Amino acid sequence: MLAASAALLNVNVVILDVGRSPAKQIIAPSSPSLAHIDGSFSDPAKIRELASKVDILTVEIEHVNVDVLDEVEKAGNVQVHPSPSTIRIIQDKFRQKEHLLSYKIPVAESLSVVSSVEAVHAAASTLGLPLMLKSKTLAYDGRGNFVLREFSQAQEAITFLGDRPLYAERWVPFSKEIAVMVVRTTSGEVKSYPVVETVHKSNVCHLVFAPLRSRDPTLSSRARAVAEKAIQSLDGAGVFGVEMFLLENGELLVNEIAPRPHNSGHYTIEACETSQYENHLRAILSLPLGSTAMKVPSSVMLNILGASSSMFELTTFTNFALTVPGASVHLYGKSECRSGRKMGHITLVGDSDAQIRSRLRLLLEKLPGGSS
Ligand code: ADP
Ligand code: MG
Repeated sequence: MLAASAALLNVNVVILDVGRSPAKQIIAPSSPSLAHIDGSFSDPAKIRELASKVDILTVEIEHVNVDVLDEVEKAGNVQVHPSPSTIRIIQDKFRQKEHLLSYKIPVAESLSVVSSVEAVHAAASTLGLPLMLKSKTLAYDGRGNFVLREFSQAQEAITFLGDRPLYAERWVPFSKEIAVMVVRTTSGEVKSYPVVETVHKSNVCHLVFAPLRSRDPTLSSRARAVAEKAIQSLDGAGVFGVEMFLLENGELLVNEIAPRPHNSGHYTIEACETSQYENHLRAILSLPLGSTAMKVPSSVMLNILGASSSMFELTTFTNFALTVPGASVHLYGKSECRSGRKMGHITLVGDSDAQIRSRLRLLLEKLPGGSS
């Protein structure tokens, strides 16, 4: 999606990822010297090769080799966005929380824990049960989280989370999960998108409703202010996704930040004046930012996860989606469908929330793997 936006601005893009990765199908190299690179984004040699071909280097995943990004930035021939120091803070969720706290941004109380039953018990005594045990690093789609409901599950939790460094977080009885995309320019100016409601299923983003509706007239401006303040505290340009918990009493806690285009911002492609991808490019290229305002009254994004290995099942569903008014289908060009894998998404736009909900119902009835 970033490559598609770049193509419209005549921006050459060189992509480092495994061979035949989706983005490489979007943008063809404009000269042999700008050929895409096959390899891992944690391989130092491959990152150096990429840096030697470009003026500006950006990431779409935070689980990258930051030491090498630091090195290529310091060598002075390439700008890296967001800055490696920001990616380093965000890569470690516990460090990220400490950073946010030092800027007085509200987060759930947390404690670093070593991987022992005694340490987990001590954390549970301090923070209470249920307790959210999280891997500090390499977490996504809930795969680094374990909900400890009883002291007796401590060993199970440690085994589940493997040998990664751990921390414990106080359980947040949120009423809603919400998110805000924020774009930050090279000079540190920030601009937020509308607040959205995110609905997760088995820890994976399922639906994103934009804009968020609330009886609290202050909520949207408060959430945007928290998100903007969080991103002001970080260095480097680009878009950031800020995930937040909304509590019953209206209080907000920042859950985590993604230093890149985010699933909760996919709706911006059809529903906003400027998509998160285009604004990411504009920010890192020091071009004027585009408006973040919505251009439709209501929208929803539905993630399409593989229900099985069947591409046929998937496209039977997306072909049906093409018949639903206001629906835009995005399939990511992944070569294999697997159960639980993000294969694409659908954005619905409409004139009202009621219209969106009735169109969404049509899609959910046919969603492979069910909608509940
Ligand atoms: P990931 O990197 O996998 O997205 P998150 O830290 O965002 O990890 O956690 C995934 C989901 O788990 C969240 O979207 C939320 O639903 C739930 N969750 C995370 N932290 C807490 C918490 N402290 N209390 C209650 N639920 C939580
Ligand atoms: Mg998350």
